[in-house]
Amino acid sequence: MKIMLKNLTKKFPGRSRKHPEDVIAVNDFTCEIPDGELVGLLGPSGCGKSTTLNMICGLEDASSGSIFFGDENVTALAPELRGVGMVFQNYALYPHLNVFKNIQFPLENLKGKERLSKGDMKSRVLEAARLVQIEDLLDRKPRELSGGQQQRVAIARALVKMPRVLLLDEPLSNLDARLRLQTREEIRKIQKKTGITTVFVTHDQEEAMSICDRIAVMNHGVLMQEGRPQDVYDNPANLFVARFLGTPPINVFHGTVRDETLFLNQAPVLKVKGVSDQDVIVGIRPEGFLLKSDGPLRCHLERIEVMGRDVSIVSTHSACTGTSLRSIISSESRVDTAAAEVCFSLKPGKVFLFSAKTEER
Ligand code: ADP
Repeated sequence: MKIMLKNLTKKFPGRSRKHPEDVIAVNDFTCEIPDGELVGLLGPSGCGKSTTLNMICGLEDASSGSIFFGDENVTALAPELRGVGMVFQNYALYPHLNVFKNIQFPLENLKGKERLSKGDMKSRVLEAARLVQIEDLLDRKPRELSGGQQQRVAIARALVKMPRVLLLDEPLSNLDARLRLQTREEIRKIQKKTGITTVFVTHDQEEAMSICDRIAVMNHGVLMQEGRPQDVYDNPANLFVARFLGTPPINVFHGTVRDETLFLNQAPVLKVKGVSDQDVIVGIRPEGFLLKSDGPLRCHLERIEVMGRDVSIVSTHSACTGTSLRSIISSESRVDTAAAEVCFSLKPGKVFLFSAKTEER
């Protein structure tokens, strides 16, 4: 089921006389989520991710704009009629019910033609439990489960009604680091197996990049950029997106373009064909540096961190006063750790120029 969000906006009224201004949590958000894909809604805390998700499932009304599931306009449809499965951050399991009954719960309230016999309900519950591999936990109460197991119960409960759309709001944030890695792979597998169009909210760019077919990056309620993770990483539309994606983060400096050459301070560091003379903000991905004895970027070596496959070199360049530069180099290229200086050339595809005025490319 394709989801289409058209000019979706949510305004919350000012909270008090002291703060009378409306909060625009989501601002003119337009995005198409293709059928069967896993899309990550990504951005810093407070940027409007949960509000967007809540409008898709109907827990919040849109102030303006519309939401389509396929050709059906669901903007004014009650949440229970939208066919959406939702997994919340805290899982929201019923503590007094065992796993079986938790998963079955959404089926018990079906009305009219949708009502199921006891036998059909049971087979649906078993099917959902099998999908997330918790068949042997059905008699347990939520408190007798680990965080990861509770999470699977929440996913099974969201899937048991065979929803048209699955929405996951920060589903991994209560798990420890190792379990997060494992669980995100499992979410991906379940999503692939079911083929259900899924929106996954997270503030963790690595998480979104690793499992999502597409990512939509938000800031201050506005969609900054949407696309395949690698495309957005390789081609960020603005400084915010460039900074938000990637670990270690992108290096950012002020620069100048003169005669199709990029200067950092007075040092010419890269040919930039077709770019007019102007002040720019320069973003250089850590993997955008090449060690080269006669490279134009001559840096003072501060620190080398060996990380197995990669070596991270922290250095400073006189042109980038006060800011360290972090580069990631393959450990196969031997670095002289005793050297006082390192020289780099830049990989053009890893260097982005943003307008100093708009911070757009
Ligand atoms: P995120 O999920 O990205 O952390 P949210 O969607 O929860 O962000 O919130 C976006 C903005 O809307 C924030 O500024 C938040 O304070 C505000 N907000 C969210 N819910 C409400 C509400 N019910 N009333 C007033 N403001 C709200």
